[in-house]
Amino acid sequence: MACRKEAGRSPEKEERTRIMKNEKAVVVFSGGQDSTTCLFWAIENFQEVYAVTFSYGQRHDTEIEVAKEITKDLGVTHDVLDMSLLNQLAPNALTRSDIDVAEGEEGELPTTFVDGRNMLFFTFASIYGRQRGAKHIVTGVCETDYSGYPDCRDVFTKSLNVTLNLAMDDNFVVHTPLMWLDKAATWKLADELGRLDYVKNETLTCYHGIRGDGCGECPACELRRQGYEQYMEEKRADA
Ligand SMILES: [Zn+2]
Repeated sequence: MACRKEAGRSPEKEERTRIMKNEKAVVVFSGGQDSTTCLFWAIENFQEVYAVTFSYGQRHDTEIEVAKEITKDLGVTHDVLDMSLLNQLAPNALTRSDIDVAEGEEGELPTTFVDGRNMLFFTFASIYGRQRGAKHIVTGVCETDYSGYPDCRDVFTKSLNVTLNLAMDDNFVVHTPLMWLDKAATWKLADELGRLDYVKNETLTCYHGIRGDGCGECPACELRRQGYEQYMEEKRADA
């Protein structure tokens, strides 16, 4: 997509890039396509990167294992934080095998939605970052494919950024590199970072816990595959 290519780099942007290169970032990391692409983006843009994965009784422990393997592979400091209280507070289809993964009816949220999840995750990530002198928080949330999740919206991340700064009297910057990208553009970003095959083969997005291309049938696999096919078509057309 043309929107990712700036015609010229402004001095402000170059200065910001230079500053970021000397700073530390925390990536909210699940081992999926989006957060792995964000992890590569962060490695490219920051001097030092930490990854945090939240454990909240996901259906598949595989998700945590994949996150551990990828960060080990990339030499990124990784911590798994226990957020099991989330399942205690709000049982949902991501954590409970007796609740089916389903799209929400008109006006309802999908059963995979966990109330307040991103608010808690970003808040914990920033407290974690504060301890390590990292003020940049990177997350893979995206408004384009947001399936109605209110805490994936741009306005939410900006609002929380202000709140975090007020809460801790700090200057956190919440980065959302995928905010306005559809799945095809997210694949393109992975390709631009030179990591298309890695993201395709090593990440876990599937609701049934199958790595890489997954089960091929759940909503996450479908979205991922459609985006990949669309991007490959665009790439062929551009060649
Ligand atoms: Zn699947």
